[in-house]
Amino acid sequence: MTAVTRPPIELDECVAGVLAGDRTQLARAITLVESTRADHAELAQDLLARLLPHTGGSQRIGMTGVPGAGKSTLIDKLGTHLTSSGHKVAVLAVDPSSTRRGGSILGDKTRMHTLAADPDAFIRPSPSSGSLGGVTRSTREALLIVEAAGFDVVIVETVGVGQSESAVASMVDCFVMLMVPGTGDALQGIKRGVLELAEIIMVNKADGDRAVEAGNVARELADALHMFGAASPTWEPPVLTCSALDGTGIERLWDEVVRHREVLTASGEFTEKRDRQMTEWMWAMVEQRLLARLRDNPGVQALAPTIEARLRQRTMTPAQGASRILEELNRAASEDAG
Ligand code: GDP
Repeated sequence: MTAVTRPPIELDECVAGVLAGDRTQLARAITLVESTRADHAELAQDLLARLLPHTGGSQRIGMTGVPGAGKSTLIDKLGTHLTSSGHKVAVLAVDPSSTRRGGSILGDKTRMHTLAADPDAFIRPSPSSGSLGGVTRSTREALLIVEAAGFDVVIVETVGVGQSESAVASMVDCFVMLMVPGTGDALQGIKRGVLELAEIIMVNKADGDRAVEAGNVARELADALHMFGAASPTWEPPVLTCSALDGTGIERLWDEVVRHREVLTASGEFTEKRDRQMTEWMWAMVEQRLLARLRDNPGVQALAPTIEARLRQRTMTPAQGASRILEELNRAASEDAG
């Protein structure tokens, strides 16, 4: 007898629950989009398609910084400041290390003590399995789900590792980079070109002995940014100092997030950016799926060692090898179609 697998959720109930802000259904919906099971994928997309008309209503903020920069301390303070003035705040995380080690260091509820106990906040750790591409996709989808559930501020956090930073920058409206004085961090940011993604730069730990140094770092960064030229014709990224520990500069950060939105909305860049992110998201998924199809194709897997051997023997050029591999993929595709 074949076992009948029940769907992991009841779709109508889940849609209604998410829209009503029910946290159990919200968590279930996110678990569904995080699932890597093929039979969950279709259900997840049905769910998202029904929620989609209710999405888009939040300030989407990205937050990055090396481990120890003070991200969780800052998010805890900013989040609490916002919920106390009537906002509903969701925190999501993209943690590239979790996909390798199977354990999440970001988005852990215990890292944001006050916010974790706040009924107007929702904290979701990074999915702990899957490729960075997979984690990025499910975080984008989780972002839409929390918006449908009525959260009007969504903070997506990531550690300072190049690829995950651009992934997060591509899903938010405003990308905030957290720096700390005395770590050589600022210069590294410039080298890696990650600074160019930043829409607001915060030099944290501007308190006690480090207050003066933080001010100096902020000035250096502002000069460096000036040299790059701005990514947006209308927005020059401000460089501010703050202390997440005592809360100084946190209100100013929020004011800048709001001003960024106003400036980009007035120039038309805001809508253009969100539209572009949707299409780029789709093409990124096309690429991922094509790659997966290539990787999983038995014909390609069988052929690859022969082609690689011929490359080693110099009896075939890499371009000829690539053509043979793609021919094999096309052959399998036309067989599937027939
Ligand atoms: P994360 O790894 O980026 O999330 O960093 P955490 O928020 O966990 O902070 C790392 C350490 O730096 C903790 O011990 C915090 O208490 C401390 N810290 C965070 N923000 C500040 C700040 O503004 N000033 C000072 N002096 N310490 C801070």
